[in-house]
Amino acid sequence: MESLNSTFVPDGTTYWAHYDRIAEVNGSFSILEKMWAAWYAWMANDVLATGIMSFVMHELVYFGRSLPWVICDAIPYFRRWKIQDQKLPNAAQQWRCTKAVLFTHFTIELPQIWLFHPLAKAAGMSTDVPFPAWTTMAYQIAIFFVLEDAWHYWFHRLFHYGPFYKHIHKIHHEHSAPFGLAAEYAHPVEVLMLGIGTVFSPVLFCYFNGGDFHILTMYIWICLRLFQAIDAHSGYDFPWSLHHFMPFWAGAAHHDIHHEKFIGNYASSFRWWDYVLDTEAGPEAQKRRRDKKRAERDAMAIKEQQKLSMESMGKEASIMGSQISVGAEKGM
Ligand SMILES: [Zn+2]
Ligand SMILES: [Zn+2]
Repeated sequence: MESLNSTFVPDGTTYWAHYDRIAEVNGSFSILEKMWAAWYAWMANDVLATGIMSFVMHELVYFGRSLPWVICDAIPYFRRWKIQDQKLPNAAQQWRCTKAVLFTHFTIELPQIWLFHPLAKAAGMSTDVPFPAWTTMAYQIAIFFVLEDAWHYWFHRLFHYGPFYKHIHKIHHEHSAPFGLAAEYAHPVEVLMLGIGTVFSPVLFCYFNGGDFHILTMYIWICLRLFQAIDAHSGYDFPWSLHHFMPFWAGAAHHDIHHEKFIGNYASSFRWWDYVLDTEAGPEAQKRRRDKKRAERDAMAIKEQQKLSMESMGKEASIMGSQISVGAEKGM
């Protein structure tokens, strides 16, 4: 399929004139594909087109996804599914958090979003239509979830190390009972470092995959990652929450304990890193750790007992042996 962005330059002046022109040239495109191509043609500046689309999408998804949680907090009926049901955020806390997040979005994230298009193009990402097959996007996004989770685990764990915690990560832990809007409430260095896992997982993948990657896949990935982060901070665990069906999915139940206990449960999307490296938080994990220690102590005691009885058996045998040899000498 020809590349619309590089070969097709419509002469219409309005956005919809571009749209109609593209529809004329290639009617087989879906409405979304035509709108996408018309956007890039109308903007006539790919860096701006990607930058504006990314920023607007990020704001809409971040606050759009946080809003249902603000509503849940205002309705007492939902309290039965609130994990730390005694600690509800008040309006002042939520507003303070919104202002801080908006400030970070405009000062830290906006310049990065602007840099994203050149970086994406250098790695070989495509902005052309048609879009890739949904199956291609799905397997790529599954890989990004795994990569980002690993990055997040190690850097989040590092942020809990003394000086890093004190000077950087402590801000994110101001909320011991988190809420949706608090997902990106963090020190700029933390936003930057943890954001690398989200942005660079696809860029690296694209680089090693020979550029078989579309920016739309990146947008869907970022939307899903925002959903994951906001939901993990929501403070609600419903019977239909994902981790009840996918036991390795982290979700709010996993991250809420991290905020409550300030230690353990460092991963973002999955539970395997904390499980394998024994950094799980919460009473169940503590009990498991206690049981394991007790079992190890019991095993040591049994071993010690066996060693002692072997030694005493050895002593008895040597006494008996010497008695026999004395008796034999006397008999001679
Ligand atoms: Zn933390
Ligand atoms: Zn958090």
